[in-house]
Amino acid sequence: GLILGIESSCDETAAAVVRAGSDALSNVVASQMALHANYGGVVPELASREHLRNVVPVVREAMARARVTFDDLDAVAVTEGPGLAGALLVGITYAKALSFGVGKPLIGVNHLEGHIHAVLMEARQRAEAPMELPLLALVVSGGHTHLYLARQSGESWSYRNVGRTVDDAAGEAYDKVAKLLGLGYPGGPWIDALAVRGNPRAVPFQFGQIKPRAHREGISFPNKKAPPKGEGPTFDFSFSGIKTAVLRYVETHHMRESIEARRVALAADPELRPKSDAMAALCDARTLDLIASFQYAVVGNLLRQTFAAAEVFGARGVVVSGGVAANSELRRRFKAEADKRGLPVAFPSLSLSTDNAAMIAAAAWPKFVAGDFAGEELGATPQLRLGSV
Ligand code: ATP
Ligand code: MG
Ligand code: FE
Repeated sequence: GLILGIESSCDETAAAVVRAGSDALSNVVASQMALHANYGGVVPELASREHLRNVVPVVREAMARARVTFDDLDAVAVTEGPGLAGALLVGITYAKALSFGVGKPLIGVNHLEGHIHAVLMEARQRAEAPMELPLLALVVSGGHTHLYLARQSGESWSYRNVGRTVDDAAGEAYDKVAKLLGLGYPGGPWIDALAVRGNPRAVPFQFGQIKPRAHREGISFPNKKAPPKGEGPTFDFSFSGIKTAVLRYVETHHMRESIEARRVALAADPELRPKSDAMAALCDARTLDLIASFQYAVVGNLLRQTFAAAEVFGARGVVVSGGVAANSELRRRFKAEADKRGLPVAFPSLSLSTDNAAMIAAAAWPKFVAGDFAGEELGATPQLRLGSV
């Protein structure tokens, strides 16, 4: 069961060869981070052009590192959505041509399911006893913040989307706040590194209750603790409010000068690293406190919603994936909370947290076993959803 996975949904061109959904023989990622950093966000046209430039060499490299030939493959898997239409099309068009050319079946994979399988594949690699089901999965990245209840019957997985952001994704809030504070792009690693130097309780950011949309979408609560119909909590997120609160704080506390100093320093020295003392020296105590408080609030909100949903839906374990799952405070606090509740929690290793193709090949494995192949009509679905609501 050798599957070549291809991923091009956003700003990473990636290819990987994975055996039986668990053993990554290669995992190659060409990131466009540096390119988009100049614009402070992903520029779709540039992304497509870079994917076009990179897809052939990245696949070649993945095949070479895995020491296999196209003939050895059992299937070609590719991300069909969600993501940028033009970016997705590059991977899909290439995968279709390859699958047709070498006569191997094609499998379309949902990028969000890929993120979840990044965790599951590593659990399989470590030959751990599989986590008990159902699992509560938090997928949290620059474009997504979703909670899924994940179950497996036979080899196939099914998902129920029990929470999602109503505005910005958590990673997007990290990126926007970092930009606002004159830090580098993407913002996550900068805020992560600097937060440890500040006081997380200095600025008490609040997250308001989000209207119970979950009920309108017909989610039922199987547990005794379930709230009566039509009221009670949702497991939705909102991260645009805290971004505005940070902006307001910056404006009322006269922080412009230090922000400008960091922008100038970063422009002068692109090698400046988040963890460097030089960077910390550019941040006054008030800035460090603001960064620490922002992260404390965001991670706290992710944690509360995730564990509340895990309890209501009777989840037997928690998995967290996506770029923000690389966050050190998030990992520490999720582990502590899970231990307190006696629930297992799992994260992908750092290289599988952000976008990659090993997770796409891993998510394709159950589909391969089930013979769930795509035809030549496979196309890009930018707004593709995962599971039922
Ligand atoms: P998509 O949302 O479609 O999956 P993406 O490229 O935005 O695509 P990823 O590559 O999975 O998602 O993750 C990138 C995001 O993760 C960025 O928003 C980045 O700031 C955030 N991130 C990366 N490292 C950290 C960290 N240590 N702490 C917090 N956020 C982080
Ligand atoms: Mg990315
Ligand atoms: Fe992603």
